[in-house]
Amino acid sequence: MSLLRVRGLKVAYGGIQAVRGIDFEVEQGELVCLIGANGAGKSSTLKGLMGLVKPHGEISFAGERLQHLPTHAIAARGMALVPEGRGIFGRMTVAENLDMGAYLRTDPNAVRADLAHAYGLFPRLAERRKQLAGTLSGGEQQMLAIARALMGRPRLLLLDEPSMGLAPLMVGKIYETIAAIAADGVTILLVEQNANLALQVSQRAYVMESGEITLTGGSAELAKDAQVRAAYLGD
Ligand code: ATP
Repeated sequence: MSLLRVRGLKVAYGGIQAVRGIDFEVEQGELVCLIGANGAGKSSTLKGLMGLVKPHGEISFAGERLQHLPTHAIAARGMALVPEGRGIFGRMTVAENLDMGAYLRTDPNAVRADLAHAYGLFPRLAERRKQLAGTLSGGEQQMLAIARALMGRPRLLLLDEPSMGLAPLMVGKIYETIAAIAADGVTILLVEQNANLALQVSQRAYVMESGEITLTGGSAELAKDAQVRAAYLGD
């Protein structure tokens, strides 16, 4: 059974159909990416999964139907979104942001261990734990947003454009960490405009265009596919 199984997902904003009935799944332990151009409907797909916009269609997560649940109930079932723009609390410290990520948990000893693990993954956050999050660089804020989501021990981590607006060196660091998190066994659905990067780090990929999935397959095969190379990899 897939951890996440989506059938006929649609998201609309008034008359604008952003997602036009897509099917996809994510298995336990996989890193799957959803790639496509700006405006293809990738963010809307993630927002629909989290209940941040109203989804139509069928979403099952760990065998349970999600589409009529409010966002907090979806989060409580183990889905965590790191949104585009990160959504960190700028006037709280790094450490306070990480505490917020664990607010639903009732296992303080395990939370402490996970905090140590998060600081191990992101040593820069450890150095800056008392600093106000709003004063971090863009890349550090992205690290904090990912670390905060991990503090909730998600069953599925949704990452929306983690490379957005970052310098190439920082993008490389973020992607190394995403690979490390996946190697730890965290299941990830990654949305990226940067198809090259996303295909390198993921096992499987879905290509989205104008609200529809037009191509899917193993990431290594898709990276070699002439059509994908021409459309998304700048060839
Ligand atoms: P991006 O990388 O820019 O986030 P995307 O593939 O994630 O692109 P979406 O953000 O999901 O695409 O947008 C899909 C379509 O829905 C676009 O045509 C966009 O203009 C439209 N759209 C997105 N959010 C809204 C909104 N809040 N109100 C109206 N239209 C929206």
